[in-house]
Amino acid sequence: MNYHILTLFPEMVLQGLNTSIIGRAAEKGLINIHAVNIRDYSVDKHRHVDDAPYGGGAGMVMQPGPVCCCYEALCSTLGKRPRVLYMTPQGKVFNQSIARELAMEEDLVFLCGHYEGIDERALSMIVTDYMSIGDYVLTGGELPAMVMVDCIARLVPGVLNNDESAEIESFHDNLLEYPQYTRPEVYEGMRVPEVLLSGHHKNIETWRRQESIKRTLERRPDLLEGANLTKEEREYLERLLLSAGDNQ
Ligand code: SAM
Repeated sequence: MNYHILTLFPEMVLQGLNTSIIGRAAEKGLINIHAVNIRDYSVDKHRHVDDAPYGGGAGMVMQPGPVCCCYEALCSTLGKRPRVLYMTPQGKVFNQSIARELAMEEDLVFLCGHYEGIDERALSMIVTDYMSIGDYVLTGGELPAMVMVDCIARLVPGVLNNDESAEIESFHDNLLEYPQYTRPEVYEGMRVPEVLLSGHHKNIETWRRQESIKRTLERRPDLLEGANLTKEEREYLERLLLSAGDNQ
């Protein structure tokens, strides 16, 4: 899997992504993180890549030439034209199911804007997907690209030590993950739930599913509509809803 990040700050994304689990995956060659400096494609003698917006207004806009040339040079090297995800607060909000879909792609290009963003003509020429990481405005697309690469890359087989851990965590089945505990058995007077010490796998699984349902109801009830629950789990949810109603 090859992630090509087009940015004015390649050192920022490389430092962030060449660390910990994603860094080790890159070292092992399971993924390849390639940052390209858009500024290298400036034809200006001062290497400028931005200018004032036509029509006036605050800030600077990234010019179309360096952005398009940067992408075209990458396509020539690769011999193909990968999907281009433009990081923008105006895009579709990224989530786990989009990550699963993107994890199937061999090559992905993450285009990072800065200042007031990128000239619309460049976007209309090369962008295939407009992606946001949430309804707030950041100074640049670098952090969003890092967030997305981290999330997508950990779904690539072999990147996590135990591939199962990506399958049964939050957002799997539209549920949040159950609470996790480790040693010591008692901390500040609080015991680990008895069932987790029982060694009874079926009971542990049932407890975890119920805790997931309870937690999702408390923190993200909007997710439950799409959750894939058994008859017993739906009954459990009904009981939770009834007792929540009783306590109001
Ligand atoms: N003027 C733009 C607007 O109002 O939509 C915002 C530009 S923002 C200051 C600069 C760059 O940061 C954007 O071009 C984009 O690449 C990135 N960015 C900011 N917030 C983002 C978000 N929530 N998700 C993805 N990218 C974001």
